[in-house]
Amino acid sequence: MSDNVLVINAGSSSLKYSLIDAVSGEAAAAGLVERIGEPEGHHLHRGPDGEISISLKVASHEDALRAALDAFEQHGPSLDDLTAVGHRVVHGGSRFGDPALIDDDLVAAVTELVPLAPLHNPANLEGIRVARRLFPDLPQVAVFDTAFHQTLEPAAYTYAVPLAWRDDHGIRRYGFHGTSHAFVSAEAARFLGRDLAEMNMIVLHLGNGCSAAAIRGGVSVDTSMGMTPLEGLVMGTRSGDLDPAIHAHLVRELGWTVEEVDRALNSASGLKGLAGANDFRELSTRMEAGDPAAQLAFDVYCHRIKKYIGAYYAVLGTVDAIVFTAGVGQHSAPVRAASLTGLDRLGIQLDPARNNATTPGTVSTDDSAVTVLVIPTNEEWQIARETTTLLR
Ligand code: ADP
Repeated sequence: MSDNVLVINAGSSSLKYSLIDAVSGEAAAAGLVERIGEPEGHHLHRGPDGEISISLKVASHEDALRAALDAFEQHGPSLDDLTAVGHRVVHGGSRFGDPALIDDDLVAAVTELVPLAPLHNPANLEGIRVARRLFPDLPQVAVFDTAFHQTLEPAAYTYAVPLAWRDDHGIRRYGFHGTSHAFVSAEAARFLGRDLAEMNMIVLHLGNGCSAAAIRGGVSVDTSMGMTPLEGLVMGTRSGDLDPAIHAHLVRELGWTVEEVDRALNSASGLKGLAGANDFRELSTRMEAGDPAAQLAFDVYCHRIKKYIGAYYAVLGTVDAIVFTAGVGQHSAPVRAASLTGLDRLGIQLDPARNNATTPGTVSTDDSAVTVLVIPTNEEWQIARETTTLLR
């Protein structure tokens, strides 16, 4: 069996794919089909011929995957020795603590979880249905965003709400970004030449979505996202933590519907709500130009990260490493500096020159008791690895 896995990440109006060697992590091709269902869609395919960009109408996820297969055929590389298809699935509920082989039962189980992830799971399922139709002879594996956090103890995952909510409706903390937290924590240990099983880490995944995880010996013990990806850190368009009574206030005082509140907290809050921009680069530019709303957004964002570092330090007792990853975590030295400032008594000392360098690696001083690292994430590689590991 070869190590080539086609990794598929199907969103509500997009389909991302990459062809990855599960052992080396090398991506021979990658692509993105966007604006599925709109009058004009777009397809970007990167492979041996370089980058191919095509505007085309894409009516469905099936059209999107067919467009991807056409691009492989016309521009390469060949998909002849494909071993499996690995799918990113956002919500695995309490049922999936590991990747799982896709069959009719799995599709039914993921369908049952749709109420917990109404935006994500239906799109993931559509990707699975289409790929099973187009690759009927290949094994396909579902890798869940929630799975890595299934190791949380009841004290960490239980919300203080009535038993019936928890028992009958699955209301508990699940956590997300698990594929990234698993990859980055293992990479951090490898980078330091240490045994993951003997390390305590706080991982900060700061992308469009943001989450923190407390990881003891490679095992997730707490994480900031909850039943849905709305809880926790401030994100591009999501509020993160807020008083749940604000929801009732908006309904009562402003006459909003539940859907309006949900949409506002998921799509119009976070950095976008604070400063009108969810892209961190735009926010940084405006902050440097002295825009007070951008400055406040930055301050709220970093204050929340610092609070979670303190909380997870207490949860873990000792911390060997704090690891920053994803777009903002990897590229924004000011975020790392503001989030870690004043934590010397916790043994956290950032080295300004290392922090301002653009290469990943150690950004703390040699004397810092806690090593601070910048480690790029690679969720596609992790999905490919978990796929082949399961099949072997
Ligand atoms: P996703 O969660 O969609 O995978 P990414 O991990 O790519 O997102 O992160 C996207 C975020 O990272 C955006 O807010 C983007 O502005 C930010 N980002 C990317 N590059 C930089 C940079 N050089 N400096 C600051 N922020 C950056």
